[in-house]
Amino acid sequence: EELRQLVASRLRAIPDFPEPGVVFKDFTPLLRDPAASRAVVADVVRRRAGAVDVVVGIEARGFILGSVMAHALGVGFVPVRKAGKLPGETHRVSYSLEYGEAVIEMHQDALQPGDRVLVVDDVLATGGTAAACCQLVEACGATVAGVEVVLELAFLHGRDHLPGYDVVSLLVDE
Ligand code: IMP
Repeated sequence: EELRQLVASRLRAIPDFPEPGVVFKDFTPLLRDPAASRAVVADVVRRRAGAVDVVVGIEARGFILGSVMAHALGVGFVPVRKAGKLPGETHRVSYSLEYGEAVIEMHQDALQPGDRVLVVDDVLATGGTAAACCQLVEACGATVAGVEVVLELAFLHGRDHLPGYDVVSLLVDE
């Protein structure tokens, strides 16, 4: 509960970003505070230590959180990126956004069959991004051990896109 309050105090809501009507949750104050960001990482390590082989982070804030979590867990990090950014052979998944489509990619040789993978991002909104990321993990024959996000926007029902996965969010906005 103390952790939740600390983290909640380090997120700020920015109205009308990136477009009118959207309230954007900004994570930069959390990243700026070493005690708060260390506590977030420690919480994930407590839950996942020994149970994951790789962390997969989603561009762009999932890179920041995911790479420090990988380091703390003593495992490697694999980036999932927007289309066209990764240089090697990739698996690709497209998924629908509120307006239009998005494509994300992961290197085909980044994961081995049997790898237990922790998927990390900052916010779970509609769940489309995390679900697509899980598809990429499974395209490599690896297993999704869990999904960790700092904030879940529960009113968007993102969990409905992630049935059967162990989805943990530190904070939930109802
Ligand atoms: P989803 O696919 O709708 O679940 O959207 C999740 C993606 O959008 C994640 O990669 C988030 O980083 C990003 N996102 C959505 N809403 C917010 C927000 O309020 N703050 C920060 N990132 C957000």
